[in-house]
Amino acid sequence: AASSELRDLLLSRIRDVADYPQPGVMFKDITPLLADPVAFNALVDALAGLCTRHAATKIVGLEARGFILAAPAAARARLGFVPVRKAGKLPGPTLAQGYALEYGTAEIEVHADAFGPGDRVIVIDDVLATGGTAEAALDLVGRTGASVVGVAVLLELEALGGRERLAPVLKDVPLDAL
Ligand code: AMP
Repeated sequence: AASSELRDLLLSRIRDVADYPQPGVMFKDITPLLADPVAFNALVDALAGLCTRHAATKIVGLEARGFILAAPAAARARLGFVPVRKAGKLPGPTLAQGYALEYGTAEIEVHADAFGPGDRVIVIDDVLATGGTAEAALDLVGRTGASVVGVAVLLELEALGGRERLAPVLKDVPLDAL
């Protein structure tokens, strides 16, 4: 759990955009936070601190906004960064994981050789909504043989039930929403 000062700072830099990308969605725009050096730096520090606390060895970012948060956090914690990408973007042999969207399906991939057997992985994304994306990423990383030791997001939309959806996959693995 983040300090209330950090939480207030981060929340104050997230902009609500109604009806984007479609009617009925309240989009959480993190670009004001990214543009504010104090808030962005505080967020990266907090994420890097989580990575160190959970004794992670590799940090996964989920395309695309997860990359923006996970890569600097990994570098600050002096850990390696691993991209989980939408299907067809990674050049090497990959593992793929499909998942259901509200309308249709999607697929994410990771390089098959991204992790070694002893790796302890933290998965980072910007927003946890229904949890479908994170669930697919956890399944995918789990299939590589690496252990997931944490999931961290900037913002959790509690009403959408992502935490409950992830509970059976996470078991005792912490889910931190800053
Ligand atoms: P979900 O799979 O439903 O948990 O959705 C999570 C993914 O979709 C994350 O990668 C988010 O970047 C994005 N996302 C979902 N809902 C929102 C929202 N209201 N505002 C911003 N991003 C969102």
